[in-house]
Amino acid sequence: MSASSLVAEAVWKAIESTGSVTDDQLSILHFLFGKNLERATRIVDQRGVKRVLGEPSGRSIFQVVGESRRKEEYFCFAEHYCACYSFFYDIVNRGEQLCCKHQLAARLASSLGACIEVKVSDEQLALLLSKL
Ligand SMILES: [Zn+2]
Repeated sequence: MSASSLVAEAVWKAIESTGSVTDDQLSILHFLFGKNLERATRIVDQRGVKRVLGEPSGRSIFQVVGESRRKEEYFCFAEHYCACYSFFYDIVNRGEQLCCKHQLAARLASSLGACIEVKVSDEQLALLLSKL
């Protein structure tokens, strides 16, 4: 794990424990994520993050709305996967960023308790994951 992802992890934990973001935390996040933080904040503000929760396992995946006019939604895991183009291009291929704006929005919304929770059966969740 890189130093910057460790720093990011510490900040997310702190935000989770208080449910709010201080100015200092915001500057650190901005330093780490740059423009993507603003994009992610816009997504969270428009309630664009759903957490699809499988029952009874409690396993979950995020479904995050994109910013284009078509408003497509991307499935993602906050830590290590997003189905969007930028994830494969900027993160997997070029290794330039820690995560895409959808992952960032998912992490931000879950730290702040701002996700829309959608409960499904574990079978439905498995079916959904099998299509990724
Ligand atoms: Zn993405």
